[in-house]
Amino acid sequence: MTRDQFWDPEVEKLPRSRIEAIQVERLRWQLERCFTESPFYRERFDRAGVRPSHLRGLTDLQHFPIVTKQDLRDEQATHPPFGRYVVASRSSWREIHPSTGTTGVPVNTLWSAKDVDVITDHTARTMWSFGTRPEDTVQNAFAYGLWVAGLAVHYACARLGCFVIPIGAGATSRQVDYFLTPGSTVLLATPSFAIHIAEHLRERGIKPEDIPLRVGCFGGEPGAEVPATRTRIERGLGIDCYDYYGLGEIAPTFASECTAKAGLHLAEDHYLAEVLDPETREPLGPGRTGVLVLTHLTREAMPMIRYWTNDYARLDPEPCRCGRTHGRLAGGISGRADDLIIYKGAKFYPVQVEGVVRAFPELADEFRIEISSDESKGTDLVTVVAETDSGEVERVEERLRKALAESLGVTPELRLVSIGSLERTVFKARRVVDLRRSG
Ligand SMILES: [Zn+2]
Repeated sequence: MTRDQFWDPEVEKLPRSRIEAIQVERLRWQLERCFTESPFYRERFDRAGVRPSHLRGLTDLQHFPIVTKQDLRDEQATHPPFGRYVVASRSSWREIHPSTGTTGVPVNTLWSAKDVDVITDHTARTMWSFGTRPEDTVQNAFAYGLWVAGLAVHYACARLGCFVIPIGAGATSRQVDYFLTPGSTVLLATPSFAIHIAEHLRERGIKPEDIPLRVGCFGGEPGAEVPATRTRIERGLGIDCYDYYGLGEIAPTFASECTAKAGLHLAEDHYLAEVLDPETREPLGPGRTGVLVLTHLTREAMPMIRYWTNDYARLDPEPCRCGRTHGRLAGGISGRADDLIIYKGAKFYPVQVEGVVRAFPELADEFRIEISSDESKGTDLVTVVAETDSGEVERVEERLRKALAESLGVTPELRLVSIGSLERTVFKARRVVDLRRSG
């Protein structure tokens, strides 16, 4: 057992059969307490005609009802402020974390003392897996406060024994200052902010090789596994770039890439993942892309049973070459159902535009996708806005148009503007701008 390679070798190298045995045992416990202590779940199980005792193996979970964010929002509106799915006593509550509310009224999530402990531990496990060690200086540029990831990482740094700079999201210039003194070695941020910091570093004339930063893990939005974005972050900051994943209703920082960069390892002893067909909601086998559905195996305060994440992913349950056996979301999150753009019959995600734009050395890191109305035709118009200072704008435009058409299956309109025209972000980027008349 080498502590050197693994944070928790006994758990991280469990054979698949043992992982599944633990999952079944924990799932039974969770279903039972949800059924007996939560009217929200009991009513839903009753309507679906299922009982916790019906679960013999993991595949039986598919007979239990799905929970969507809208279900949670409705439940909390009818039974404010937390809904009837809190199954831990008030004395055990420690923190409240509302969702960011970008897609409607925020949903409140509670963490108990035990929940904080589990989240801290698996965050430490992920950080260890992408190379964080006690001697590291961690610059935590995730937002602190109500957003989940900032605190989770902060707690994990304490558990790892790292020196932490709790700077939070923002103060781009000071982020660079801390690279120099005391000299951060690990950076955590959204990928958009990482790119912005790299741009700032370049503007100040500091070479990546002149700072001690060596590793970064980026979450809050997809991007770190888009090859062109990963390359830009790695070159811009002189680091190894890894992907992080979390969700307010499930947990922050519960899945990350390991140093093998072979997809997001899940903490399968705490979270059970299914991938379902978006239409039929039937389970899809390993390697097939569908909607990720997650179940809390150990969560105490507000457990989620079959939470529909709206995120597209594919599951690889095979052991990783790093030696870890916990399953991976291969290639990261490939898109959010909410972000899907349908244009002239073609369907694509903003992340595909990102992959194309950032592969062009003549273009800057920032871009926008504008959706407007073509009044004359009564149809939508999708325009990709990118930045360049190239002297040969027409040639760049022509090549970009071709590359976009190839990746998206449709040709959007293009507008090239000068570098620095588009706003930079320190948190989650809003790169899709809907200019259609609203109301
Ligand atoms: Zn691995």
